[in-house]
Amino acid sequence: MTVSVPFGEAPRLPDSGPPLHEVIGKAKAGSALSGAEALALLAVGPDATHEICAAAASMRDQAKGKTITFSPKVFIPLTHLCRDFCGYCTFRKDPKQAGKDLFMTPEQVLDVAKAGAALGCTEALFTLGERPEQRYPEAREWLEHRGFRTTLEYLTHVCQLVLEETSMLPHANPGTMARREIAALQPFNPSMGMMLESTSEALYAKGGPHEFAPSKRPRVRLRTLELAGELRVPFTTGILIGIGESRRDRIESLLAIGRLNAQFGHVQEVIIQNFRAKPDTAMGDFPDAETDEFLWTVAVARLILGPGANIQVPPNLSAENYQIYLDAGINDWGGVSPLTIDFVNPEAPWPALTELRAKTEAAGFQLRPRLPIYPEYFLDTTEFLPDALHQKVSAMADSEGYVQGGMQRYAGRN
Ligand code: SF4
Repeated sequence: MTVSVPFGEAPRLPDSGPPLHEVIGKAKAGSALSGAEALALLAVGPDATHEICAAAASMRDQAKGKTITFSPKVFIPLTHLCRDFCGYCTFRKDPKQAGKDLFMTPEQVLDVAKAGAALGCTEALFTLGERPEQRYPEAREWLEHRGFRTTLEYLTHVCQLVLEETSMLPHANPGTMARREIAALQPFNPSMGMMLESTSEALYAKGGPHEFAPSKRPRVRLRTLELAGELRVPFTTGILIGIGESRRDRIESLLAIGRLNAQFGHVQEVIIQNFRAKPDTAMGDFPDAETDEFLWTVAVARLILGPGANIQVPPNLSAENYQIYLDAGINDWGGVSPLTIDFVNPEAPWPALTELRAKTEAAGFQLRPRLPIYPEYFLDTTEFLPDALHQKVSAMADSEGYVQGGMQRYAGRN
């Protein structure tokens, strides 16, 4: 399908959709819903959430069977400095708060990556603030002193180090990127990521959580997703639930992701992430995303994106009941670390692998570790990875494209 509207401008949806039973029937037959059909889900109340969850789970089963994956990872917060301000963020720091640790040094990065590899991890997730050198002279000086003009140049350097000096695979998640920046990272990253968060314009209006975050404008983020598609980079994206967007906004965000994937085939997974209020932020008094609303969104994501999509819910953000999302059509738990905390949600520890496995199996599924690139992007194709990277990735995978050794790698460990 071709995207026929400018990015950031969703095609106008009608005011209502066809009857719910028609839509559920189509979904159960395994067909992804169109935008107009998805509108039938807007009015689904708590009494009928289970119905759309069942349709989503049935759609998932048709393509993914009973396999649920996770990515054993370490989280590398290369810098907490950021030029933007989002109303819910506790990750960002200014230079005073960061003290002498403006950026992790190459030695610190390699130490974490090697320690993760020793524990059986395969993904080095680089998450960092957006272009801090554009706001802070201290960041510019730190980078210039080491021969880099930008944070993204430095990121490229440390990704290369990790790829060449460890058995880990980098997955860069640095925010918005230009074409040349994605192209520079590509030889060292089998996949990259950036949350779309939402296409809602209300979120960056006055008083919204993105008012002071130019990088969160939907048009800019959709452009990064488009560039990744043009460059054939397997890409992770997702939406954030409960930051002031409406159900209709979520449907439009998912449709925008679906359109880009239909055009380029590069959206390897979609994260459905629930907002959690954090003290000392502008949104500290906001309620956390409600479970029923989150279930609705997870199911709708599956129904819109179709049976082949990889849909993820982070288990650490719903610690008390994350297994319920298995019944709403997900097939992945995302990155889980035995070593490092979730620096974006430091209050939310990862579940131990033994617990994650027990809960997944109790629900009737098999838990398998995956690489930061999904099997369909390298197993029977050389379209997405440069030769050297394809060789390294293939050497780490079993015959089905999952991490060699499977869960045995973690036997005897939490
Ligand atoms: S969420 Fe990301 S872009 Fe927004 S302030 Fe935090 S680090 Fe910066």
